[in-house]
Amino acid sequence: MSAVEDPGVVRRDGRSGPFFDGAAEDRLMIRRCVPCDRWYAPDAGGCPACGAAELTWAEASGRATLVSWAVAHLPGGETAPLALVELAEGPWMYGRLDRVTAPREGLPLRARFVHPDEGESHPVFEEQD
Ligand SMILES: [Zn+2]
Repeated sequence: MSAVEDPGVVRRDGRSGPFFDGAAEDRLMIRRCVPCDRWYAPDAGGCPACGAAELTWAEASGRATLVSWAVAHLPGGETAPLALVELAEGPWMYGRLDRVTAPREGLPLRARFVHPDEGESHPVFEEQD
């Protein structure tokens, strides 16, 4: 997920294709190690537990809790709330918060998918009802 020219536009790189293909279909795809049944963040490259070099892609529930957050200041005066979340499956990943008025540690979140005209579909995390 590099965003050099315009931080508001999410673009894929070679390793993140299945993540964005899933996002286009409203599915949160993360990495899974089949031999030892562990889940990893979308950008994980291998399994430190069993040494497997290949992780498969698998669909996560989209449920998460908020670990920490910060407000990023973008060129042009825009701000973007960035969050570190813990997925229900265990891994931590970065994402954007949406419609969270009072962030706090442990806040229950769920992934919702944004489908912009320009750039890739991507998840944002909003408060669970
Ligand atoms: Zn493993």
